[in-house]
Amino acid sequence: MDARILAAVMPAPRQPVEIREFPRPDLPPQGALLRTARAEVCGTDVHLWHGRLTGVPYPIIPGHVSAGTLESVRGQLDGIDGSPLREGDRAVFFDVHRTCGRCRACAVHRTPTRCSSRRVYGITDSATEGLFGGWSQAIYLEPGVGIARLPDEVTFDDYIGAGCGLLTAVHVLERAALRPGDVVLVQGAGAVGLSAVALARLGGAGLICAIGAPPSRLALARRMGADHVYDLARTTAAERLEDVRARTHGEGFDVVIEAAGSPRAVEEGLDLVRDGGRYVIAGHYTDVGPSSINAHRQINRKHLEIRGCWGSEPGHFLRALAILERHAARVPWREIGERVYPLTALNDALADAEAMRITKALVDPWGQSRFPL
Ligand SMILES: [Zn+2]
Ligand SMILES: [Zn+2]
Repeated sequence: MDARILAAVMPAPRQPVEIREFPRPDLPPQGALLRTARAEVCGTDVHLWHGRLTGVPYPIIPGHVSAGTLESVRGQLDGIDGSPLREGDRAVFFDVHRTCGRCRACAVHRTPTRCSSRRVYGITDSATEGLFGGWSQAIYLEPGVGIARLPDEVTFDDYIGAGCGLLTAVHVLERAALRPGDVVLVQGAGAVGLSAVALARLGGAGLICAIGAPPSRLALARRMGADHVYDLARTTAAERLEDVRARTHGEGFDVVIEAAGSPRAVEEGLDLVRDGGRYVIAGHYTDVGPSSINAHRQINRKHLEIRGCWGSEPGHFLRALAILERHAARVPWREIGERVYPLTALNDALADAEAMRITKALVDPWGQSRFPL
């Protein structure tokens, strides 16, 4: 690898992404440098570009979930599962780091995803501190970051196709307390919703339905395990409610998972979950405004359980890897990653993701582009 490392930097919200050169970092003991093979452009990156997340220390190198090969390792480095890591290993890492373990959120409430010391590669790490994001030819893995070997069965494209959406979905299904045979609705057919469909199927759900758009994503939702899909653009909420009642003994779903990020989705989801059911809200990662609900009819009288889901923990990362190792050959996670962009085309990738022209853009930091930035 050259001494200089190229990375795509988001200088500020609504500003074009630009290529910058970074020096090769000096590694401290237990530090590592990952040569990036694949990163992703996810919905969060579009939110970052729109300036919709608070506390982001622009300029940043986006790309929080990434995969590559350990280029250099200083000293003895153990993976998050305890096994030793060596230069040349294909590796992935848990993007959340510096969770303190001592604050009230961590130690008292046992909600480490709400720790205020917590930092996330590609989101809350500034480019002024170095290579803390995957839109770069190499990523600095500081001591303490949870690193794991990528199982031989899992390709880089499997891992990044699943990406942060699978990690989130593992946590969502945990929050949903899915029981075998439960009938499940997933609202949203983006990366989180598609992975939630797949995990509900693997987890023994009965009927699985999904609401979303466009048709290409709904077709993929079917290949991920959905039995029935509703095109948001071609059905009304009233039609969907009537159809859901016909499919569920007039009751609604045992579990509804909101992965749509729309205030209207919450209003509808509360009507589609059965009395005494469970509703997990995971799509409102940014503030998209209030939903209008009737607390008597939709919550209190329903005896409903509503749960939020924020971020993920190391256990979700490891379990996502175990799921991919066992199932990536049959569940088409890789198809979520629709097109590969080099660093010089990431403004196009953001525009394509924003317009929902593709489900997910992949980043190949070593790829060549015919189009100058
Ligand atoms: Zn903490
Ligand atoms: Zn993401």
